[in-house]
Amino acid sequence: MAKKQNELVCSFCGRHESEVELMMPGYTANICNDCAEHAAQLAKEYLQKLHHNDNSDIDLKSMPTPREIKDYLDQYVIGQDEAKKYLSVAVYNHYKRLAQGKDDDVEVEKSNIIMVGPTGTGKTLLAKTIARLLKVPFAIVDATVLTEAGYVGEDIESLLTRLLQACDYDVAQAERGIVFIDEIDKIARKSDNPSITRDVSGEGVQQGLLKLLEGSIVNVPPNGGRKHPEQRMIAVDTKNILFICGGAFEGIERKIALRLNTHVVGYGNDAARRNYQRDNLIRFVAPQDLKSFGLIPEIIGRLPVLTNLEPLDRAALRRILTEPKNAIVRQYIKLFEIDGIKLTIDDDALDFIVDKAIEYKLGARGLRSIVETIMIDAMYSMPGGKAKKFVLTKDYAASKLEQANFDILK
Ligand code: ADP
Repeated sequence: MAKKQNELVCSFCGRHESEVELMMPGYTANICNDCAEHAAQLAKEYLQKLHHNDNSDIDLKSMPTPREIKDYLDQYVIGQDEAKKYLSVAVYNHYKRLAQGKDDDVEVEKSNIIMVGPTGTGKTLLAKTIARLLKVPFAIVDATVLTEAGYVGEDIESLLTRLLQACDYDVAQAERGIVFIDEIDKIARKSDNPSITRDVSGEGVQQGLLKLLEGSIVNVPPNGGRKHPEQRMIAVDTKNILFICGGAFEGIERKIALRLNTHVVGYGNDAARRNYQRDNLIRFVAPQDLKSFGLIPEIIGRLPVLTNLEPLDRAALRRILTEPKNAIVRQYIKLFEIDGIKLTIDDDALDFIVDKAIEYKLGARGLRSIVETIMIDAMYSMPGGKAKKFVLTKDYAASKLEQANFDILK
């Protein structure tokens, strides 16, 4: 646009009135809307830093102890005792680290965590549940969308965007938050990939992630996604951010078995191999298995707390249906109660639901969809009707699944 004479000029960026949306004239200087916004943001960040630059508001005595954290997790997550213990201690130590005075001689290093276990065994649930208990910002992000900078997908720094959003862009709060990175196994290096194209979502991403894990100041795009040169970045120091990673690492059992068996010397190999295979091999997962799987050693080194989740057996699935505070069965009872209907579910109907989840290999995730399929007709027709109670029997459940052609899932 042609500049007119006598136009006001922004005293900060030098642009003319016709080049900006709004020019605000002052007594001795002018400011455009862009510079005004920028200045306001800078002032906000500065003041936040000023007020949060010590962690004296973290009082360890008011923090839950590892035992209390585990007790809380027990109310929502069935089994997985080892993972719960590791998480509780790591989170508690994270608090201790934050409460530590700056001039302490021994600086406690942060202990990022990696949880290995089959899909649908409670990794995300554990992370979410801990989030509810904590007084620090928390974000769950998925590693699958990440790619190396410059490629289609999201830049690594966008992991922190969620965290910033979780605390309304309060940088000082975000800088001591917790990030749960789901599906970390999806960025493993695909070493046996014969493709000659670049491994854009593999090693490059791991290198990028390393920077975040080890603690550095990174520029975060405030709205996530890709970085744009014209977008103003928010600088975040990741030194005190705790990273919890989770992944199914499908096939890692083979690597574990291989490692365990190569350590068995002599002719008794076969018997040993059989023994190991009978056990749940994930229990023996060690850092070197993650390396064989394709995580680079530097990443593994930055995730010093390694724990595992066990596959859920029949008994665990049965408990998941009824025991957690927000168990599926409790939720349905509540839903009916709101309509003034008393729902009871026979024990053998519950066993039947668990059997079906196992038969269809749906795991804990499938429990909900099975119950939903069984209950849909009752939930459709009963509200507003005369009946004030409903008993779910095994026969009723079986007939509803049959009607719904649930077998297709098999
Ligand atoms: P993943 O390990 O793949 O992250 P999730 O934590 O997302 O699995 O589990 C999926 C769903 O299955 C949860 O929302 C929850 O309802 C149920 N679930 C899985 N594991 C457990 C568990 N150990 N205790 C209670 N519910 C569980």
